[in-house]
Amino acid sequence: MKILILDDNKHRHDVFAARFADDERVHCYSYSQAIAALSDSFDVIFLDHDLGEFHTPDTWESYGGKMIEYTGLDVAKAVADHYRGWAGIDDLPRVVIHSVNPVGAPVMRDVLQDCGFSVVWDPFSDDSKCEDCFGDGFNMGLNGPEICGICHGVGRK
Ligand SMILES: [Zn+2]
Repeated sequence: MKILILDDNKHRHDVFAARFADDERVHCYSYSQAIAALSDSFDVIFLDHDLGEFHTPDTWESYGGKMIEYTGLDVAKAVADHYRGWAGIDDLPRVVIHSVNPVGAPVMRDVLQDCGFSVVWDPFSDDSKCEDCFGDGFNMGLNGPEICGICHGVGRK
C-alpha cells in the first residue's frame, strides 16, 4: 500500500510511520511537498489542515498586507484536480482527514466527497480508539469519528 501523509508536525509523522511501518510512505511536511508528491499515485492520502505555511498573496493590497496561509484545503483541491477524469472511481485513493480543526476539516472532506472520493474525518490522536485496530477495551467515544481513519486507510471500512 502506498501512502501520502501530509502534516507539519513531526510527532504525528512518527506515529503514522509506526502505524504503517510495512507500507510505502511518502512524508510531506508542506503544501509544496504534497503538490510535488501528487505526480505519484497513492492508495491512501492522509491530510492535515493547518500547515503553518504562509506566502505572499498575488495582490498584496487586496489582503491589507497580510500573508495568506496554505492549508490542507488547498491540497485537497489539488488532489481533486489531479484525479479529475481518473480511470474509475474504484481507483481513487481513499482519503483520511486527520486534522483536529473543527472548521477546516469538514470543508476538506466535503470538497473531496463532492469529487467522488471516499473520505472520512478522524481527528488525530496518539492512541486511537477503534476495536478493529486495537482490540477490546478501545472505543471511539462520544466525540470520536464515525469511521476509524486507520480502518478506512487500510480499506477495512
Ligand atoms: Zn480502526
